[in-house]
Amino acid sequence: MKKAGKVAGRRRRRQAAGVIGLADPAAVANALLRWYARARRDLPWRRSQEPYRVWVSEIMLQQTQVERVKDFFLRFLDRFPTVASLAAGTEHDVLRLWEGLGYYRRARQLHAAAKKIVAEYGGDFPRTVVGLRSLPGIGRYTAGAIASIALDQPEPIVEANSRRVIARLAGYAKPLGGAGGDEPIWEIATGLVPREHPGRFNQALMDLGAMVCTPEQPLCNACPLAAYCEARKTGRVAEIPVKASRRAAKVVHETAVVVRRGARVLVVQRGPGEWWEGLWDFPRVPGGMRTVRRGIERSDVLGRLACGATERCGTIAHSVTHHRITLDVVACTAGRINQAVRGRRWVTASAIESLAMTSPGRRIARLVLPRPARGPT
Ligand code: SF4
Repeated sequence: MKKAGKVAGRRRRRQAAGVIGLADPAAVANALLRWYARARRDLPWRRSQEPYRVWVSEIMLQQTQVERVKDFFLRFLDRFPTVASLAAGTEHDVLRLWEGLGYYRRARQLHAAAKKIVAEYGGDFPRTVVGLRSLPGIGRYTAGAIASIALDQPEPIVEANSRRVIARLAGYAKPLGGAGGDEPIWEIATGLVPREHPGRFNQALMDLGAMVCTPEQPLCNACPLAAYCEARKTGRVAEIPVKASRRAAKVVHETAVVVRRGARVLVVQRGPGEWWEGLWDFPRVPGGMRTVRRGIERSDVLGRLACGATERCGTIAHSVTHHRITLDVVACTAGRINQAVRGRRWVTASAIESLAMTSPGRRIARLVLPRPARGPT
């Protein structure tokens, strides 16, 4: 009786959310698992179901393309093969290995979570979604991925690929994303994930979204789920999923200042709460070239250096979250010797190579500094 009540409750919640339920979840799961057995992608993190490998790969894959993650994953596992080795590493080492992947908060949280797993769980991953979600950086999706893939538990996952597949399968034509917008898809995913092979099923959903049910021009004729797909039956594949309206991009103009003192240049470490927290960058002032003098004079770091005349070196463009940043780059010479202050350093071009730099900082170093010479830093 209790079980029947739960199913009815789930159905009512779906109906209240306006979700068109799937008629035969078991048939969908079987068709998808058969397809996965012959078509699955061979990815480095799939060679073992060890929770540590699943976790690292899932964190790297957030906001990042699979092809891009492969090399980073192998390098990371080479340097930190176990959760204990990651916990014992320094944050700088972790950030340096992460350099180029972006979204550095992921790396700091990965490191913090490894320490917590070692300190509080004796080096073993928690075995429940609630326990997993108590770790830094592990949200609903990552907990579901670890629980299903590594621990064989029937937990759902919803990320970009599975969200698209599920929305089309169910013919869900309301906006997704944004506050609470994915809840109906989680509901359907919960009803779909089978008790047998839940990890394979979840990975199959992601593979189908990446290879067949793509955002543009999905290969419906080759799709193992075509017979069950509401969007296909009703001719709405191109309309689904419907995205929530996106936040408008914010345009920002800044100037990076490369301050020279002999063979060294000044770099500053990004502080708590800033973008790229913990990484090194060249100091920046607001505005472009026209206001750079005023920006330098008002800067806590640069104003006290009495920088000489500025020389324009170029302009680079980059994005952070919804900010589109135009970054002018100038070089100048420090007028006075300055005391070392926490969070900034004078470094040679070769020392910069071993620092964990922001990606624009790395581009500026390549633009402005000579090729690093071998020798003491
Ligand atoms: Fe996606 Fe087309 Fe398959 Fe439907 S039939 S799940 S739209 S690829």
